[in-house]
Amino acid sequence: MLADYAEHDQAIGLDWYALDPNLSFLLDRHLPEADDRKFAEEHVSEYGELVGQVLAARAEITDANGPVLQRYDQWGYDVGEVVHNPNWTANKADLVRTGFVGLSHHAGRSVPAVVTAARAYLLSQCETAAYCALGMTGGAADIVERHAPLSIRDVFVSRLNSLDPDEAWEGGMFLTERQGGSDVGANTTRAVADGGEWLLFGDKHFCSNVDADVFIVLARPEGAPEGTRGLATFIVPSRQPDGSPNGFTIKRLKPKLGTVGVPTGEVGLDGARAWLAGGDPKTADPGAARDGRGINRMMEMVNSSRFGVALMGLGIHRRSFLDAAIYAARRTQWGQRIDRYPLVRETLVDLLVDLEAGMAITFECAGALRGAVDQDEARLVRRILIPLAKMRSTRVALWAASSALEIFGGNGYMHDWPIARQLRDAQCHTIWEGTENILAIDVRRAIRGEQAHLALGSRIDRALDAATGQRVLASSVDVIAQTRREAWAAIDVLAAAPEDLALLQSRRLAELLADTAEAALLVEEAAWSLDHQGDARKAVVARRFVMRKLADLPLRGLLDDDRTVLDQFEPLVRYGKIEPGALVA
Ligand SMILES: Cc1cc2nc3c(=O)[nH]c(=O)nc-3n(C[C@H](O)[C@H](O)[C@H](O)COP(=O)(O)OP(=O)(O)OC[C@H]3O[C@@H](n4cnc5c(N)ncnc54)[C@H](O)[C@@H]3O)c2cc1C
Repeated sequence: MLADYAEHDQAIGLDWYALDPNLSFLLDRHLPEADDRKFAEEHVSEYGELVGQVLAARAEITDANGPVLQRYDQWGYDVGEVVHNPNWTANKADLVRTGFVGLSHHAGRSVPAVVTAARAYLLSQCETAAYCALGMTGGAADIVERHAPLSIRDVFVSRLNSLDPDEAWEGGMFLTERQGGSDVGANTTRAVADGGEWLLFGDKHFCSNVDADVFIVLARPEGAPEGTRGLATFIVPSRQPDGSPNGFTIKRLKPKLGTVGVPTGEVGLDGARAWLAGGDPKTADPGAARDGRGINRMMEMVNSSRFGVALMGLGIHRRSFLDAAIYAARRTQWGQRIDRYPLVRETLVDLLVDLEAGMAITFECAGALRGAVDQDEARLVRRILIPLAKMRSTRVALWAASSALEIFGGNGYMHDWPIARQLRDAQCHTIWEGTENILAIDVRRAIRGEQAHLALGSRIDRALDAATGQRVLASSVDVIAQTRREAWAAIDVLAAAPEDLALLQSRRLAELLADTAEAALLVEEAAWSLDHQGDARKAVVARRFVMRKLADLPLRGLLDDDRTVLDQFEPLVRYGKIEPGALVA
């Protein structure tokens, strides 16, 4: 069991990996090969101290000293340069050195996706802004590697993956325009063929990491049809080889509520030189840009960014829990630690229960192949689970940050404590990479277009099978199985419903699928923990989640005599072992 939280002053300064046994638990589960697990231990555990002890303190300073756009230099020349606080730059430099982006490129072996996810989850606990910048860099590197013409590919890939902060490039992505937000098909930025290359003209309205080096940009090739199918994806450096701007002007930095460190700007493109992602450089055929598949390349980046934003939500959630657990252990009122009060206990336990549920589905996205029958099923599970995980974890993170702030009382509302920033940052993530509504509609698209719910249903059934036979999980398994049957039957009913009614229900449906998937993966984890570790803590977590989210308790559970949060508080929040015999079946 972890030490009493009262032994710590605050979260900053601690080893965040060592304090999070659920993260090592997930690595154990997802990485059954000893080699992979050893690799994970080495590369994830180093982030526990780096993030908790070094980066987190700097992130607080960055938040209070955000970037500014220096329009002109002292000679009056228009330089349009973003000036950062050195703490922001130092954090990114440390991350570059440890291969936050470049690990796969330099490790000399394949890097399991759960390792990358675990590092991102730890980083998000201190600074989702930094993860935004470097996550988009990884996404840009991936698009360049797979779709850039050979003339630029190797140099760009090696700079984007560099482990040397002086050499390393960063990336960004420009989709959104003033009139084209969720509806990117309304975009008007034009691409004009120029030999084998392209020139881009237009305005982009939300451009995060705006002073990066390479951008993945959506534009409409001249002659391409209107709407989404007419869009193509381009690779655009911010500077020409001689260092001069590449037809690229930062018009202003936006004044933001949170994620202060990463500059989000408005950009004008006036003849910016670009390469078509996925074009044929040998023929330089402009027709290739109008093949209707250009948007798909951008969507590859959007999907991986959506997964990243799900991890941001989890990071904020975990940090909120940790700060609140420490504060509640140290703060006394009426002569007693406030974490002795039943209502505070319930808040802390439910913060953790919902966090473990969110981690179960989000890490499943990274490790989908392990639990799937084949590659195709894994692809479909990821297809539907990524928007569900992003929608779920970012929304719950707002509740987590708000609940944690309230545990701090009035102090929580003040800038001299770290929790208010988590709440401000959390609000960004429900919007980035698609709002909740857009994700719910995307889940519906995955169901209607690709039947992805069938793959998810099979995965849920296998999770329930794994838990069947565990006495302490029996009632939870029954509730989940019933919800699974009813939810999937509802999908069939909604398929035949009028379009407006089906759209009206799409968010409710996505919520139900997320709850069911979380509950099923939690009981699977619980069964594994009972089998391999003789530990019923996860079973308690799973049962609590099922009772709150899926069970139909009379009178909202008011007369329920479940004492879990009172009697199991210490092993739950301090990750102690619970003997299976201590649980009533
Ligand atoms: C801090 C920050 C940084 C950003 N950085 C970038 C970036 O680097 N690159 C980039 O390209 N973009 C970026 N964005 C933009 C972001 O992706 C968009 O804000 C987001 O996609 C929503 O688009 P919008 O703001 O135009 O809202 P709108 O599309 O106008 O939506 C407004 C509201 O209407 C709802 N809505 C819209 N259509 C529907 C529908 N069909 N059904 C139901 N509801 C609907 C939405 O859910 C939302 O609640 C950033 C945004 C923020 C806040």
